[in-house]
Amino acid sequence: MTRCNTPTEMEPASRPHNKYRPVAERLEDFRPVEKRAAPEELRDGLRRCQDCGIPFCHAVGCPLGNAIPEMNLHALAGRWERALATLLATSPFPEFTARVCPALCEGSCVQGMHEEPTPIRQTEKEIIERGFASGWIKPLIPERRLGLKVAVVGAGPSGLATAWRLSRAGAQVTLYESAAKPGGFLRYGIPDFKLEKEVLDRRMELMAEEGVKFECGVDVGLDIGARLLKKRFDAVVLAVGSRKKRDLVVPGRELAGIHFATDYLSAQNRLLGGEIKVLPPGFSARGRRAVVVGGGDTGSDCLGTALRQGAKSVAQFEIMPDPPPTRTPANPWPEWPRIHRDSSSHEEGGERRWNITTLEFLPGDVPGRLGALRCAEVEWLAKDGGRPAPVPRPGTEFIQPAEMAMLAMGFTGVEDNILYRELGVALTPAGLLARNPDQSVADGVFAAGDAAKGPSLVVRAMADGLETAKAVLAWHAAGGAKKEKAGVSPRLASV
Ligand SMILES: Cc1cc2nc3c(=O)[nH]c(=O)nc-3n(C[C@H](O)[C@H](O)[C@H](O)COP(=O)(O)OP(=O)(O)OC[C@H]3O[C@@H](n4cnc5c(N)ncnc54)[C@H](O)[C@@H]3O)c2cc1C
Repeated sequence: MTRCNTPTEMEPASRPHNKYRPVAERLEDFRPVEKRAAPEELRDGLRRCQDCGIPFCHAVGCPLGNAIPEMNLHALAGRWERALATLLATSPFPEFTARVCPALCEGSCVQGMHEEPTPIRQTEKEIIERGFASGWIKPLIPERRLGLKVAVVGAGPSGLATAWRLSRAGAQVTLYESAAKPGGFLRYGIPDFKLEKEVLDRRMELMAEEGVKFECGVDVGLDIGARLLKKRFDAVVLAVGSRKKRDLVVPGRELAGIHFATDYLSAQNRLLGGEIKVLPPGFSARGRRAVVVGGGDTGSDCLGTALRQGAKSVAQFEIMPDPPPTRTPANPWPEWPRIHRDSSSHEEGGERRWNITTLEFLPGDVPGRLGALRCAEVEWLAKDGGRPAPVPRPGTEFIQPAEMAMLAMGFTGVEDNILYRELGVALTPAGLLARNPDQSVADGVFAAGDAAKGPSLVVRAMADGLETAKAVLAWHAAGGAKKEKAGVSPRLASV
């Protein structure tokens, strides 16, 4: 039996299998795994919403503060347009979260204390898709402009949310993105079988119609420097993500066939998106034995991708222990349940192991190419009252044959960029942009999303992007840009 570890929170809670397409069918393609919920099934679920006096789903669970009980009740009564208005009052892009959110709201649903929570995420999907299909989602062009020009650097969910809110408020926004298309990890990380990219394109078209200018293929810091940004714009928002990959520094790391997970996933997504005609050499798992190092959700995305590419076998190794099947006393409701979960990819195949460390990559028959991993089981021991650390257990070493390995071990902060020094932006010890309580990182410069908060979730990136937009507007209202031009902000004036 495959079991699941969730050191992160990205995977939606395990759902009944009838919500997914049959395994044999879905392994043949990269189309979305999840089916649209049947109307009667959704209604049955929505009837369980208690319209709680204190809705924890809204107040504790949802980072966007979605008015979930109201939305649910409108949906149950078939008042779809009102349900949509309720949803859109707090969420800029429900079509993204409806597909990839782990549904923190469901983790704090009162109903979920004893049985299945209300199906909030699927209700959200039904509402937003009905909205698009019925033509209710239209571009909203502000009647007047504020005379505020903002550059947003990075078009992931946080940058998109910042740009969306600022543009609707009347700012002129240019979104700079180093990749060929906007979306960040929504486009180049999350596989199509979880999020079909037409959903992104549909939203980007709307945003462009609303006046957001997309400048893709521009690496800010390299192609455009701080001086030009400051000359062209009143404010700058850095929404560059936390994308410096954590490496596995063990002997044999230089062997061919070892990839960072996001490079591997991005290649497959670019192929499906028509950006490249074939996968780069060594990026297909077809006929190969693959190992994914890292038991989180990026790892499970690699597993699902490798199975679809036709891998001979896939193993996923996690260094942490398997989480418990139910909440522990240290993790009470309404907190997000840190429990064992299975993703859709885990249902599809592969072997999963916990408490495993990789000691060495070994070459195979072809010189310079990966042939196996030398691994061992670990136990977590706390020395001298310190934090528990993994220690290999004697006699547990084993050799795992593999021609391909994907490293899905997380991120260690923002990527290096001369821009930060030029703009006077400091980094935290965790390698993130050091942000003030007003979301600023320097005078007239703000930060949003994973770049400031660390690797997290799409819904949190979106919520933070909205907060950052609010901060930029408050700064503008307080005369921020004017003050700077008058020389009140020496740091920027000197750039
Ligand atoms: C494989 C994978 C799967 C995930 N699955 C889920 C999931 O199922 N559910 C979920 O909620 N979360 C998931 N996440 C996490 C989620 O995607 C991130 O938390 C979220 O995308 C962060 O948003 P962001 O806008 O802050 O950064 P990002 O999405 O990282 O976007 C940053 C953008 O900035 C651009 N950029 C960086 N530097 C520059 C520069 N100098 N000039 C121009 N552009 C620049 C990048 O190209 C990128 O487009 C996943 C993450 C990964 C890696």
